[in-house]
Amino acid sequence: MAKLKPCPCGGPDYASCCGPFHAGDPAPDAQRLMRSRYSAYVLKLEDYLLATWHTSTRPASLDFAGEKWLGLDIKKHRNESNTVEFVARYKIGGRAHRMHEISRFVFADGRWFYLDGEFPASSPDSLPPNSSPPL
Ligand SMILES: [Zn+2]
Repeated sequence: MAKLKPCPCGGPDYASCCGPFHAGDPAPDAQRLMRSRYSAYVLKLEDYLLATWHTSTRPASLDFAGEKWLGLDIKKHRNESNTVEFVARYKIGGRAHRMHEISRFVFADGRWFYLDGEFPASSPDSLPPNSSPPL
């Protein structure tokens, strides 16, 4: 029996997880595209990342800054707004960081594309927006 190769996005088997999308299959929904794009960052698949980026927001090229990706957590997938909220953890220069993003996706010509993202202002040590300081 062939040994399974774990998928960078956290799936048990790359060949049946993000592998087929990297090989050209269209992702069936925004969340699967999001996972496959995270895996593509881990594997530095620049062509795949650019190909799944909507032309209106796509950069000319990507710069992989030497980050080491540590893991992906999908927080929320909203079908009605085509958004996926996630937290990705990575290390750069030995320091750990966390990226919290709400990504927007669009469906065009039978495929999903990454459009853009916003970064909710929440970090573990920041106060919730409407909490008042202790008196
Ligand atoms: Zn995967």
